[in-house]
Amino acid sequence: MVGLSWVRSPPTPSIATVKGIKSLMLSHVKSWHPGYSKIIEVVNENDVYIVNARASNPLKKTWRRDAKKKDPSDLCLGNPRIWLLGDAIHPMLPSRGMGANQALHDCADALPQFLKLAEKKRHSKLSEKDFLEAVTAYEEKMMPRSFAWVAKSGGTSQTVCHALHPAESVA
Ligand SMILES: Cc1cc2nc3c(=O)[nH]c(=O)nc-3n(C[C@H](O)[C@H](O)[C@H](O)COP(=O)(O)OP(=O)(O)OC[C@H]3O[C@@H](n4cnc5c(N)ncnc54)[C@H](O)[C@@H]3O)c2cc1C
Repeated sequence: MVGLSWVRSPPTPSIATVKGIKSLMLSHVKSWHPGYSKIIEVVNENDVYIVNARASNPLKKTWRRDAKKKDPSDLCLGNPRIWLLGDAIHPMLPSRGMGANQALHDCADALPQFLKLAEKKRHSKLSEKDFLEAVTAYEEKMMPRSFAWVAKSGGTSQTVCHALHPAESVA
């Protein structure tokens, strides 16, 4: 895959309105080394697609409690049985290639907690406190690690547009 990223200034038109995506890409690299223009010239325009990357803001450690406070009767808010992993909690710009890596780390941090719950369930009924302790232990590992990568990947400081192309058409 070949990816070209640029900051959306001026704002990039939506994919539906772009006519001649290659021209748009060429206009973005016109002041770059001529090799970049050559790469764009050989790609098949029909295979190019645009991704508007989204990035998250770090959550407070207390986010579940804070959400629950809004309406304690609403089981959807801050429910400790609902665990967030990967892009569901920490989407990041793809510039450092760490989104899926962090999602896999999340699984590694969540799994011991799932196993502990499963073990406890063999002997007794699980309570909300058990779930809250387990998800808190998971989030205490996951949040500093993953949101550090959100920041290192550019945070939300830039809105970036990526034009992508499968590499086999370039070769
Ligand atoms: C251009 C680009 C390049 C990237 N390069 C890298 C890289 O080099 N290295 C890296 O580590 N990461 C990279 N990433 C990031 C990586 O792709 C994501 O971080 C990763 O896929 C997140 O995994 P996930 O399982 O959390 O979410 P996803 O992969 O988005 O999986 C969520 C799944 O849920 C499904 N779904 C959504 N809603 C529902 C619903 N209501 N019901 C049922 N299913 C639903 C979706 O269809 C999807 O299959 C890149 C991302 C982009 C955009």
